[in-house]
Amino acid sequence: MSWIEGGFQRKLIAAYLGLVLAIVVVAGMYLLVSTNGPRVSWPSLLIGGLLALAAAAILGSFFAHQVTRPIAEMTAVARRMAEGDFSRKMPAPSSDEIGHLGRTLNLMAGRLEDRLIELEGERAKGTAVLDSMVEGVVAVDGSNRILLINASACRLLDASSVAAAGRPFLEVIRNKEMLDLLDRTLTEGTFARQELRIFTPVQRVLQVHASPLKGRAQTAGAMLVLHDVTELRRLEMVRTEFVANVSHELRTPLTSIRGYLETLLEGGLADRKHARPFLEVIHKHTERLGRLVDDLMDLSNLELGKVALHRQPTVLAEVVRNATTIYGPQAAKQEIKLRAELPHDLPHVLADRDRLVQILINLLDNGLKFTSKGGTVRVSASLTHPTPNTLHPAVDFVEVAVHDTGIGIPSQDLPRITERFYRVDRARSRELGGTGLGLAIVKHLVKAHGGELAIESELNKGTTVRFTLPIAPLGKNLV
Ligand code: ADP
Repeated sequence: MSWIEGGFQRKLIAAYLGLVLAIVVVAGMYLLVSTNGPRVSWPSLLIGGLLALAAAAILGSFFAHQVTRPIAEMTAVARRMAEGDFSRKMPAPSSDEIGHLGRTLNLMAGRLEDRLIELEGERAKGTAVLDSMVEGVVAVDGSNRILLINASACRLLDASSVAAAGRPFLEVIRNKEMLDLLDRTLTEGTFARQELRIFTPVQRVLQVHASPLKGRAQTAGAMLVLHDVTELRRLEMVRTEFVANVSHELRTPLTSIRGYLETLLEGGLADRKHARPFLEVIHKHTERLGRLVDDLMDLSNLELGKVALHRQPTVLAEVVRNATTIYGPQAAKQEIKLRAELPHDLPHVLADRDRLVQILINLLDNGLKFTSKGGTVRVSASLTHPTPNTLHPAVDFVEVAVHDTGIGIPSQDLPRITERFYRVDRARSRELGGTGLGLAIVKHLVKAHGGELAIESELNKGTTVRFTLPIAPLGKNLV
């Protein structure tokens, strides 16, 4: 059979020759009979002819099969390759043209498979880069169908990347303003930018940059890049409010000071009886201005991290005693009981003594300011053991609490009570000499010590402000 496998052309020639031979045999027999050759009978000629035809048919079909079988096999393998299955190879056993074609196709399939793996790798890299971006990215085609959407965009817009691909934009991202921006970019083919508010899954401010995706001739789609500027806008608002608040807080005492001074200058000085009270009011407002500026400076330094704490093992009971002694006369004057109830076996806390006094003074001051005659202001402390959720799981803390039986804080004001200048009753706080910065300072100081601040309050029942301080590594039982 080796001559048969020698070449595709030879197979074809063999099949062809087989047929020609059969035709020649049949034609020869026919001529022999038609010219009445000697001793040739019709039946024997017929049998001979049929045998020749059968032999030619067997030979022809054998060779034809030899030719078509590899082609049929190749077609099946090629179909599987087209479907992405490169596991089967083209049959290429012979050294003829078909075998050569099979080997060439195998080589081509191998390269194609390598290229596909490479492309898949590139695509995975592209997806990983897009998904690791903080900005959201959404690409749509010319008819507003989503081509791709990255993880950040899904998070910002509450969409799913798998479900989104190929679907109309508005079906996935229900935001008319964003769709209008896309439409504008698609029709005008130019870059556009817009800031817009979204409300689901949560309220956010997004700055959206839309740019056209250029095809061969025209705009083939558009891409949106979404920047979440919610926090930035909030901070801008806080800053604006802060500037407005500071201006207001400074203007109020200044207006009073100017008014009284003008009265004095316009002849009030001569009126001995009224001059002194006027000067006392001016003095009070000047003091207030001084306190305000001091508190502002303090807060600003704390926020900028400019305050260096000198933390050392500190006996809490001693600091509390110090602070309550300062407020003793005021409490007595207001007929309020001021008490410190600290256990005797408390460990040392790791704190900056002066700053700890400042925290306690602020809290005692508030307690006394907002508690009426007959009430109580009490300082207590206890050791707390770390729970798995605390910020410093390895350290024990001492929790200090300042309780009062005063007017309390309405529950709706509690979440914002430590914000700068936030006050339940602005006029009352000012009247009582407050700057509205005390709790903000306390919060920063506690945080700088590595502790946490929590405020509980019930209207007309009282308020408890708790803060934690880490215990000093070796201090124990030193009260
Ligand atoms: P202020 O200088 O006004 O006391 P703070 O920052 O210390 O400023 O407190 C802010 C506001 O919180 C106060 O104006 C008051 O409305 C409320 N507040 C603070 N402590 C208490 C308290 N112990 N009882 C009732 N309200 C309080």
